[in-house]
Amino acid sequence: MDSSETPVVMYFFPFVGGGHQIPMIDMARVFSSHGAKVTILSTTPANALRFRNSIRRDQTLNRSITIHVLKLPDDDASADSSMTSAPLTDTSVLQESLRQFIAQNLPNCIVIDVFHRWAAEVIDELFIKRVVFNGNGLFSRCVSECIGRFAPHQNVGADCEPFLVPNLPDRIELTKSQLPSFARNRPGLPDKVGKVEEKSFGVVVNSFYELESKYVEYFTTELGKKAWPIGPVSLYNRSNADKTDRGQAALVDEQSVLHCLNWLDSKEPDSVVYISFGSLARLSAAQLVEIAHGIESSGHNFIWVMGKIFRAVEDGGCVRDKEDWIPAGFAERMWEMKRGVVIGGWAPQMLILEHCAVGVFVSHCGWNSTLESVSAGVPMVTWPLSAEQFYNEKLITDVLGIGVQVGSREWESWNVERKELVRREKVDAAVRRMMGGSDEAAEMKKRAKVLSEKAKRAVEEGGSSYVGVDALILEIRLSRKN
Ligand code: UDP
Repeated sequence: MDSSETPVVMYFFPFVGGGHQIPMIDMARVFSSHGAKVTILSTTPANALRFRNSIRRDQTLNRSITIHVLKLPDDDASADSSMTSAPLTDTSVLQESLRQFIAQNLPNCIVIDVFHRWAAEVIDELFIKRVVFNGNGLFSRCVSECIGRFAPHQNVGADCEPFLVPNLPDRIELTKSQLPSFARNRPGLPDKVGKVEEKSFGVVVNSFYELESKYVEYFTTELGKKAWPIGPVSLYNRSNADKTDRGQAALVDEQSVLHCLNWLDSKEPDSVVYISFGSLARLSAAQLVEIAHGIESSGHNFIWVMGKIFRAVEDGGCVRDKEDWIPAGFAERMWEMKRGVVIGGWAPQMLILEHCAVGVFVSHCGWNSTLESVSAGVPMVTWPLSAEQFYNEKLITDVLGIGVQVGSREWESWNVERKELVRREKVDAAVRRMMGGSDEAAEMKKRAKVLSEKAKRAVEEGGSSYVGVDALILEIRLSRKN
């Protein structure tokens, strides 16, 4: 076999769980379906369970994809449980294990999550081609880069005073309160992401050209970086089994999945509001009460994934019952009235968003949720909380015109109690605005549907993302020595 026929060998090193790991597992599967020989480097055995089922299904289709669990040092038994999906989790305890594995089994390329910052050095020492995945789209990357370069927030006084982000293709205004709290009073944003990208081969992006074409161009020409938009990778999950397992294979409760889907089946098209804040966010009990009242008074059907509640340290770490968080009997009453389903655990988000009964997604604007909503053609009520979610909100509402803002104004870290409370009246008003049958809502729905078609085309053979996957494989192939 000549070397151009031997498959390129790629390793994917996803972060621990959550919104970073989910798309990277999808991505690894996409590359194996395009002929690459893929190994997923898992941080811990427990973590590997989250995606083992979908990898097994790929293996039965004769795809070359395996999981290698990196070994923790013998003297650090606690590391397994201390490695959580929180953004600041330090995974560097795996450094020696990674070094040994890749030195003995040299790949042609390694795709690493940006949160494994330490891994870049190990990989570069071995002269292996390194590609970075940071979980964001390119619009938010460009906004962040321009704020870092031009520090426009330094020219305004009050945290609520708007400033223009200079030099971008669109007119984007933000306030200091929407920037990470640690960056508000500094000249530029700390560019940890940029550091990991230095000396890398480029970045793979879970996005598609047609969604943010101006920003793909801006990122590559103005900012001089190399990017392969290859998403939305969630669309690679074509079977219901893949969609159900996604993110939490080991924890999924099939009965509650069925329960939720049967309930949706009983509803009219576009008549249900889906509310979820992703895998990490923690809202206060007071905020949950406001959501409960807001969604009830809107009069619309809903599925509400409550997620985790913020627990202050003085709670002593005790888990409170869900009845303490929302008005007494709310979930039961809504269920009996056939008005709503409250989900306490993990929801099959892809299946819910793709159901024709869902009319709008009230979302924290995590990038995966944003892309999944776009892919399903569902417009949004935007409720950003932290990370780059305030930038994603601008893309959704001001650039793409597929959503309205609930009125969340204050960036706060996921592990700090939020001071800002979005009142029930705002929840009610935003939901009514999107679900009330107005021309404005219909226009947004239409635009979301057009984007959904474009997203699906992008991942089909010959589509921009499909071609992007092949282009990266080809570049790796051409640059390898063997
Ligand atoms: N997700 C899910 N069920 C849940 C909560 C989240 O399937 O109950 C998935 C969701 O589909 C998305 C990811 O978890 O793929 C969340 O990623 P996102 O970037 O939206 O937010 P993050 O969790 O990183 O804040």
